Amino acid sequence: MSDDCIFCSIVAGDIPARTVHETDDVLAFLDANPLAPGHTLVIPKAHARHVGDLDDDLASDLFAAVTDLTPRVQDAVDADAANVGINDGEAAGQEVPHVHVHVIPRFEGDGGAPLHAVGG
Ligand code: IMP
Repeated sequence: MSDDCIFCSIVAGDIPARTVHETDDVLAFLDANPLAPGHTLVIPKAHARHVGDLDDDLASDLFAAVTDLTPRVQDAVDADAANVGINDGEAAGQEVPHVHVHVIPRFEGDGGAPLHAVGG
């Protein structure tokens, strides 16, 4: 837990979130400023700033949640596809310094940008 981290505050229950999935180690919740309906963030509960800070077990649990959730999120909003990605580091557009995987539903002809614009 990091005192200054908004996602740690969500994990702690100090900031409300619309949770869509939770295990002992992973939490998924709706993005507060969604780029598309159903835009979901999947995070490790333990604070880690960069993907390289995750140990193998946690990285595995995180990705397992992403693979499980992505088709379910798509189904929930009747999407045709999804962008799944991580902004890892400030220069890559990471604004919240706690690892999070964006799952962004996409729709045929939605005119949205591909992965390079995730969270940007
Ligand atoms: P980043 O640019 O990859 O770090 O993405 C951070 C994401 O966190 C953005 O899509 C924000 O909309 C989202 N976000 C920031 N604060 C909150 C919050 O309190 N609840 C849910 N999502 C948030």
